[in-house]
Amino acid sequence: MSYKLHDEVEGTCLECGSTIHGRRDKRFCSLSCKNKFNNRTQMAKRQMRAKVMAALTGNYAILEALLIEKKTGASLEDLSELGFDPAYVTSHRRGRFSHDEYACFDIWYYRTDTRIFNVRRKLP
Ligand SMILES: [Zn+2]
Repeated sequence: MSYKLHDEVEGTCLECGSTIHGRRDKRFCSLSCKNKFNNRTQMAKRQMRAKVMAALTGNYAILEALLIEKKTGASLEDLSELGFDPAYVTSHRRGRFSHDEYACFDIWYYRTDTRIFNVRRKLP
């Protein structure tokens, strides 16, 4: 006669898919699978953060170039050709009586559907 302890169940290893016997909360068949899984998920998170930082760094350089050229606005179409991606911001304030305000670190601007304006440096 075989029996299982109440809290022992069969599960599936999150890394290799093999059957696991043991505690209900056990997620991996081995330390090797646990390490592989964690290394892969940490790598994916690092790559995602690096992608976001690269986009913000690119946007910042474009906004800074506008300020150096003494320009306070530009069309999103022109900025897009330079590689500006309006989806990446570090702050956003919904405009109650005016346009929404966005920031890329210390550079703030207002944005409409077609352009940005009032580009300026401001501490948050
Ligand atoms: Zn495994």
